Amino acid sequence: MSRITAARLRVLRAPAADGIAMSFAPLRHRSAVLVELDTDDGLTGHGESWINYPPWAASERVATLREGVFPRIVGADPRDIGAVHRSLCAGLEPLGRQWGAPGPVMQAISAVDIALWDLAGHASGLAMSRVAGDRVREEVAVYASSLGPGDVAAQARRCVAAGHDAVKVKLGFGRADDERILAEARGVLGAAPALYADANQAWDLAEAAAMAPILRAYDVAWIEEPLRGNRLPELEELHRRTGLPIATGENVYGIGEFRRLAASPAIAVLQPDIAKAGGITEALAVCEAAAAHGTAVLPHLYGGAVAFAATLQLAAMARPVAAVEYDIRDNPLRDPLLVDPPVPDRGRIAVPDAPGLGIPLDTAAIAAVTRPHPREEPES
Ligand SMILES: [Mg+2]
Repeated sequence: MSRITAARLRVLRAPAADGIAMSFAPLRHRSAVLVELDTDDGLTGHGESWINYPPWAASERVATLREGVFPRIVGADPRDIGAVHRSLCAGLEPLGRQWGAPGPVMQAISAVDIALWDLAGHASGLAMSRVAGDRVREEVAVYASSLGPGDVAAQARRCVAAGHDAVKVKLGFGRADDERILAEARGVLGAAPALYADANQAWDLAEAAAMAPILRAYDVAWIEEPLRGNRLPELEELHRRTGLPIATGENVYGIGEFRRLAASPAIAVLQPDIAKAGGITEALAVCEAAAAHGTAVLPHLYGGAVAFAATLQLAAMARPVAAVEYDIRDNPLRDPLLVDPPVPDRGRIAVPDAPGLGIPLDTAAIAAVTRPHPREEPES
């Protein structure tokens, strides 16, 4: 007999030393919601929910978790991860539809699902990537993310010094700046490293098509979220017109849409984020869809310690994961919250092997970045 006896959350927040410009809004703080699930076996599992945008996302997430999610899982059997995932989706997706907000609902469910996988690991004394069977790899390729729009050459030099062989730049700041970013990055990297670019949905179809020759000139291997709205028919039209390989997935919700993307010849790379799309369970389903069509999976990862550790575990259990995004900017919610955080060597990370997330969390460091929330109430 095993039951979830308590569900808690913490809002983590810390200023980032190098505020990150995006084509839509800057990111000046790193934030995440950490979910902790206790069981009557005396175990605690940790999960993470993504709240980078909007700046007030923490308030929404605290309410959604406390009022919508936690009452549905206390008392449930944590060993049946699929059943909990299905029941949360069945109960909350209809509310998300009415709300026009499938994303926040899935981002909240993500934290619970990751915590359940962490619990499964602790219950068996294994890293979560060993819970469901053998690992498919012991070493994960990572790519450096993201350079620009300022200090591109200096950031690229740091990537070269660290041995990264694949690097992503941010675009969507206007044609002149975008060309400068690509030129500075390629100028420092030289011809060999792979160069990726992320437009964060900055362009319409004509603007994206006009960027294609520039992207080709700098040998950009794929363009991420090129189009405002991220609609598949338009992405397919862009691909037809330009032949550009397209990456997307960090703002996609629901396995049905991931399956349509996986099946499209326009989409070369799927980028589910385990702290957004619905946890490890949903990401494994995305990997299955990707495998059926030979599409590569490069999970989106721009969060904190738990998302980082759990994404490495996903990569160790899912063959379609070709590489994982590795945040090279100041991130006070990632390495400082881990005991002995892994650092890429020549663009690779050996998959950690401690029980659960693979890497123990530094509880004192987590306490230091836990921010009080205005609506502190007794938790279920
Ligand atoms: Mg992106």
